[in-house]
Amino acid sequence: MAKKHLAAVVLAILLALAAGATGMRASEIDDGMPLIHMLRPLLHSGGDLGRRGRVPCDSWRFAVETNTLRDWDTVPARCEKYVGNYMLGGHYRSDSRAVANEAIAYAEGLNLTGQGKEVWVFDVDETTLSNLPYYAKHGFGVEPYNWSTFGAYVKEANAPVLPETQRLYKRLQALGIKPVILTGRREDKREATANNLAAAGYTGYLKLLLKPQNVKVSSIEFKSGERKKLQDAGYVIVGNIGDQWTDLLGEPEGGRTFKLPDPMYYIG
Ligand SMILES: [Mg+2]
Repeated sequence: MAKKHLAAVVLAILLALAAGATGMRASEIDDGMPLIHMLRPLLHSGGDLGRRGRVPCDSWRFAVETNTLRDWDTVPARCEKYVGNYMLGGHYRSDSRAVANEAIAYAEGLNLTGQGKEVWVFDVDETTLSNLPYYAKHGFGVEPYNWSTFGAYVKEANAPVLPETQRLYKRLQALGIKPVILTGRREDKREATANNLAAAGYTGYLKLLLKPQNVKVSSIEFKSGERKKLQDAGYVIVGNIGDQWTDLLGEPEGGRTFKLPDPMYYIG
């Protein structure tokens, strides 16, 4: 009991010191980074991250991006501001740029046959296109997913481009690697998706593959199945890029996979 009391006192002192040092109120420290290492032993950050542990939001995001934290429904309410700042500030763009740079360096180093059989798989949502205009109005993932409002947004076909992905897309085309678009969006969104991709500047892809309308299939099952079909048809999947681990896992994965950031939602 005395030990617990002492830990609470030490925590209060640390929070007060951090608030003084950073000019933030103690309640805001969760959105910042100054005390992660000092607080970690007191916060017991293992286990059900972000729900019970009160893990700082950037540590929560790390667990999300590394596929350590799975099957989560919504961004913790306390992390709305953190995720919003991450997405709208320079950090999201800079993380995306690091991924695109690495993907381009890898593609440029490939020994291509020049026979037009090499392809690169691209996901759509938060990969070629950004749904930030929608999520910015819906708490950056704090609100539960809403099929009907998100479906209406998709049908508007107005999602902006993700510039770093487009840079990769165009570089691959210049190298002779054909893009294949593989999305978990259903067939009823084909027209809207094709129109949106075209409006955003994605042209010349080999295929646009969408989930069948009424078939219940997991994302990994559907996407790895479609990649297998490509492979069986004689294509060589040299690369695969998406914002969800379920875009990347499941054989055949492709010669190399590239994970884009997405702390706003989880697709299992
Ligand atoms: Mg996606």
